[in-house]
Amino acid sequence: MARRRGRGRVYLVGAGPGDPSLITVRGQTLLKEADVVVCDVLAPAELMDMAPASAERVLVGRGGRRRLDQGAINRLMIARARRGLRVVRLKGGDPNVFGRVGEEAESLVRARIPFEIVPGVTAALGAAAATGIPLTHRSHASSVAFATAQTGSGKAPGGIDWGGLARIDTVVLYMGVRRLEGVVRGLMEAGRSPATPAALVRWATRPEQRLIRGTLGTIAAAARRKGLDPPAILIAGEVAGLGRRLDWFARRPLAGRTIVVTRPRDQSAALADRLRDEGARVIEAPSIVLRPPISSGPLDRALERLGRYRFLVFTSVNGVTRFFERLAGRGLDVRELAGVSIVAIGPATAAAIRSRGLRVAAIPEEFRAEGLLRVMGRRRVRGARILIARAAQARAILPRVLRERGALVDVVPVYRAVLSREGWADVRRALSDGGLDLLTFTSSATVKYFMAKLRGREASKARRIPAAVIGPITARAARQSGLRVIAMPRNYTIDALAEAIVRRFRNSPSGTPRGS
Ligand code: SAH
Repeated sequence: MARRRGRGRVYLVGAGPGDPSLITVRGQTLLKEADVVVCDVLAPAELMDMAPASAERVLVGRGGRRRLDQGAINRLMIARARRGLRVVRLKGGDPNVFGRVGEEAESLVRARIPFEIVPGVTAALGAAAATGIPLTHRSHASSVAFATAQTGSGKAPGGIDWGGLARIDTVVLYMGVRRLEGVVRGLMEAGRSPATPAALVRWATRPEQRLIRGTLGTIAAAARRKGLDPPAILIAGEVAGLGRRLDWFARRPLAGRTIVVTRPRDQSAALADRLRDEGARVIEAPSIVLRPPISSGPLDRALERLGRYRFLVFTSVNGVTRFFERLAGRGLDVRELAGVSIVAIGPATAAAIRSRGLRVAAIPEEFRAEGLLRVMGRRRVRGARILIARAAQARAILPRVLRERGALVDVVPVYRAVLSREGWADVRRALSDGGLDLLTFTSSATVKYFMAKLRGREASKARRIPAAVIGPITARAARQSGLRVIAMPRNYTIDALAEAIVRRFRNSPSGTPRGS
C-alpha cells in the first residue's frame, strides 16, 4: 500500500443512522477508494464491506475490537494520512451532530493533514422517517431541537437548559436511554405536561428497529419494563403522537423476521437485498464459496475446440461467468461458438448468456436436468457432441441420460464449491437465542453443507426452523436432512423464491408463518 506522499487525507464521513444504504453517494465513493477505514460502533459495520479488500479496517469505540480513546484515534488517522493513505473515518449519523467531529478536525489542522467532512443522515431524521413521526407539522410543531442528555463531563444532566428546551415544540434527545428518568423529569419540571406524547426509537432504520410510544409521564417506565437498551433516541412533543398510520417500516411483510441466506456470496446479493427490502434482517452465511476447479485442463481443452460441439449446456450463472472469463483469459472470444447451440437451465442462466450478446437456443420449462433433456430433442441429441460446463460436484443424471440417448458428452468443471464459515458466528448466535424465523436454500449442496456445519444440539434446533427452498430437488434434500419446507416457488428462480417467502409471511404478524 505504498502511496504517494501528499495524497494522504482524512475524510470524516457521516455513515447514516443504521441502514447501510442510507450513506451519501459521496461517502460511498470515498469508501470505495479508501486505504484505511476507521469505523465507529454506531456506524453500520456492513459499510466496511464497500472498502477495497486490501484496505485496513479499524473498529473503534465500545464493543469494538480495539478500544482506542479519542487521542489514539486521532494519532492513528494522522499517522496513516502522513504515509499518503486515504483514511475514511466513518461516524454514525452525521459527524457534526454529537459526533465530536470538531475535536478530530482540530487535531488534523494541527497536524496539517488535509481533511473533508461529508454529512450524513442523523439519527433523529432516520428515526422520523422510519416511524412516520414527523418532526415538524403544520398544526402541531414549528420548531424542533436536537439535544443530548449527556453533558461534556459525562455526568447526569445538569448543564441542560430544560426551560429553554421545554419551549421548543419537538425535542429530540440523543444518548438518553440511561438517563431517561432525569430527562423526562427535566422537561416536565420545566413545564411540559406529563400527557405530552413521547416515542423512543432504538436502532432506527435497522431491521431490528424498536418503537415504544407513550407520554412524558409513562415512557421511562415503559422503556424499563420492555428492557430497552441503547442506542435509542427520544422524540417528545405533540408530533410523537402522530404517524401511526404512516408506519411503513414496521408494516413491511418481513419486518421483524430474521432470515438466513445460504447462497454463495457472489450470488446472494439479489436474494438478500430482496428480503431486506421487505423488512427482513438477513444473515448472509454462504454455505459454500466458489473456487476455480482443481484442474482447468479439461475446460481449456474444450475451449480450444468449441466448434466441434453441437450443444453447449450451462446449468448456472456461475458456470456462464467462469466459462467466459476463462475463454477470454485464453485469448479467445465468442466467435469460437459459431454454430454451437447454447442451452440454459433457467431464465437467470439464459439472461447471463444473452448479456454476452449470445442467443439462447432453448430453456426448459422445468428448470432442472430432466427439463433440459426434453427441450434438446431426442433426435438432435443422437450422435451429437455436447459440452456441459458446470460445477465440479454436480448431479450425474444429465450426462448419463444424454449418453443413454446416444450423445457424446464432455462434462467439464468450471468451478468448484468449497465449504465456507462466513457469517456462521451470526447463525450460531441466532440459533441459540431462538431468534431465527427462516432458512433459505437454493441448491441441495447448500442444504448439505449447512447441516454439516451444525454441532450437537444445533442440528435439532435448526430442524425446528422453517425452510424455504428454490425447487423440488432442494426440497427433497432439505426434507432428507429433517428440515421442514414451508415455501417453494412454482418457478425455480430467486425472484420467485423471494415472492414465495413474502407471501408466506404476509398476514402472519407474529409467530410462525401460516400453515406451518
Ligand atoms: N452523530 C450521531 C449521533 C452520535 S451520539 C448522529 O448524527 O446520529 C450517539 C447517540 O445517537 C445514541 O446514544 C443514540 O441516542 C443516537 N443514535 C445513533 N444512532 C441511532 C439509531 N440508529 N437509532 C436510535 N438512536 C441512535
